[in-house]
Amino acid sequence: MVLAGPSGVGKSTVVAELRRIAAPLWFSVSATTRAARPGEVDGRDYHFVTAEEFDRMIAEGELLEWAEIHRGMHRSGTPRAPVDQHLARGEPVLLELDLAGARAVREQRPDALFVFLEPPSWEVLVGRLIGRGTEATEVVDRRLATAREELAAASEFDVTVVNHDVGETAHRLVELSAGPPVSRAGRGTAPTRRTGLESGATPAGASE
Ligand code: 5GP
Repeated sequence: MVLAGPSGVGKSTVVAELRRIAAPLWFSVSATTRAARPGEVDGRDYHFVTAEEFDRMIAEGELLEWAEIHRGMHRSGTPRAPVDQHLARGEPVLLELDLAGARAVREQRPDALFVFLEPPSWEVLVGRLIGRGTEATEVVDRRLATAREELAAASEFDVTVVNHDVGETAHRLVELSAGPPVSRAGRGTAPTRRTGLESGATPAGASE
């Protein structure tokens, strides 16, 4: 399952909640070139790596996908091997990605379930982006610009979940990851093989 959505929508809070409730999902840990924020733990929240190490990972094909985040402020990517290992064991996998990352994974694994996390409103999103209070104004402005672009991409996803409440959202994601497989009618293709990234879900384009 791939979870994406605009910056500030609360993806990482939802992932933290999924961890807290011990959701039966394996959480991919991305590599990133940005510095750790207070409270972030290397190896749990991210693998914090140098730009040189990130270059090496790209060159050696170790990343399933990677993207420049916030218009090149830093790069983050999904290490391929652990994802493959967990999928091979039949364990559901959760990738929390930006839009570019979600699109890149769709190229490689079109049968995955793509979930778009939406804010209850634009105002709520702006409030969250500014309210975080840990970034400079310039960074917030970039985030708003990215968020505007990313919100417009909701229709590319199989399912939209509105993040009214972190607990409810987490439970909805658990349901989606555990549900029976369904044909993705809106995309015109039914999954033909199971990789574990995919799952059953509300029919394509459903919004809740
Ligand atoms: P942050 O740096 O604030 O933790 O995350 C910024 C953005 O990077 C979020 O939208 C998050 O989903 C995205 N992101 C985190 N890890 C990855 C990754 O491995 N690949 C891609 N493409 N995006 C990621």
